[in-house]
Amino acid sequence: MNSLRSKLTISYAFVALSIIIAISVLFNIMLDKLFMQYALNKQEKQIERIVSQVNQIYNEKTGLYNQASLEIIANAALQNGLILHIKSPGSEVDWDIRQHNLDQCQIMLQHAENNMHSIYPDFKGKYSERNFDISGSNGAVGFINVGFYGPYSFNDEEIYLITTINKALIAIAIVALILAIGLGLYMARRLTIPISSVIKTAKEISKGKFGIQATSNSKSKEITELVTSINELSYELNKMEMLKRRLTSDVAHELRTPLSHLLSHTEAMIDGVWIPDRDRLQGFYDEIERITKIVNDLQRLANIEEEYIVLQKEWFNASDFLHSLYTIFQIDLDKKQIKLEFECSAKETIYADKDRLKQVMINLISNAVKYSPVQGQIKIKIFSENDNFLIYVTDNGCGIPPQDLPYIFERFYRADKSRTRITGGSGIGLAIAKALVLAHYGNITVASEIEKGTIFQIVLPIENSL
Ligand code: ADP
Repeated sequence: MNSLRSKLTISYAFVALSIIIAISVLFNIMLDKLFMQYALNKQEKQIERIVSQVNQIYNEKTGLYNQASLEIIANAALQNGLILHIKSPGSEVDWDIRQHNLDQCQIMLQHAENNMHSIYPDFKGKYSERNFDISGSNGAVGFINVGFYGPYSFNDEEIYLITTINKALIAIAIVALILAIGLGLYMARRLTIPISSVIKTAKEISKGKFGIQATSNSKSKEITELVTSINELSYELNKMEMLKRRLTSDVAHELRTPLSHLLSHTEAMIDGVWIPDRDRLQGFYDEIERITKIVNDLQRLANIEEEYIVLQKEWFNASDFLHSLYTIFQIDLDKKQIKLEFECSAKETIYADKDRLKQVMINLISNAVKYSPVQGQIKIKIFSENDNFLIYVTDNGCGIPPQDLPYIFERFYRADKSRTRITGGSGIGLAIAKALVLAHYGNITVASEIEKGTIFQIVLPIENSL
């Protein structure tokens, strides 16, 4: 499998190379056209100049040319690759540079051909000639024949310029390629370092090392989200693992203590040490009832969490609902002289599964009663706001330590085990309350301060009721 690093680097290099090749090809096509046009123009101008010069040195009276000047013009033309042949049929003039300097002519023609083949190996050039009239006062008196390697050719300077431009293009291509590879490697490194960290963390997690965190300095949104997600996953798994361990030990502990009591007491009765009188049997009964309650609570919670429950929703009056709760707790409240206050408009109605919501409230209020001091105060408030029904259960009891707050809704979790042992709690009440609220697509949260009190907030969405 190809690594992200090599894929990215190759992609960058490929893109850079493609762009360079495209630019080079286009540039060369344009350059060729431009140079060809330039060479043709230059040739045209040179020929024009030579024709005019030859015309100037023609002596109409004698019908001859200034020989010395002719040689100078023809030699200068030869330097530019042009071969002059002047002929006047009227007079006997027939001057051809090849008769004077054949070697040089051949060298120049060959040189032009070599030049052209050095840049265009397939260049189809050949020796060409053009004729121009020499005009006297009574019309043409002869003609100039100009021979050259054509259709056009480049001189040494032009060849040098073209090859230099091509070399520069190659140099640019190499530099761009190196930059592209460098950039590809750099980008790949920036991407792969955090991804590798996430992979490493995921592997550690799969080996059971929950809670381990991946690190990243990346500022990219997706990478940050990836790292955050794996870290959250790790955190959640760690939390679940801790709870699972705690759950197992708590279930064992919760059942072991009453069961061992029952066992030792039954043994004592079998051995005749204890007489099975009414009080002792009542003690047995209470213990068994407690174990049954725990098992039933666990089963109920499992049913709710596994979505076996079907809600029977209905509209009901909130104030009546609260008063029915008061009846349930009246004796307990009186025992501890706790004041229970309701804050709710007489017309307020709620849409929910009444029995299930009652169960939630019973669990919250029984906790409030359990953890409130004598002459404490409990307040329950129900109202609707925006798109939600809001329920608050507030007490001025012992409060919950901050480190326990995140776990308070987990089953068997008890903030202070020694305390709850006295109050008889098993740590399932809030887990059931939460599961029931979630079944209503609502939410339950808690805020608490040690020795000041606790507030539970339930939010039930109204839209769910439509
Ligand atoms: P329990 O049966 O132990 O009360 P719950 O699930 O109802 O189980 O509550 C879990 C724990 O949360 C309790 O053991 C207690 O420590 C803490 N708790 C719940 N409600 C209150 C409250 N109103 N005030 C103080 N602590 C509370």
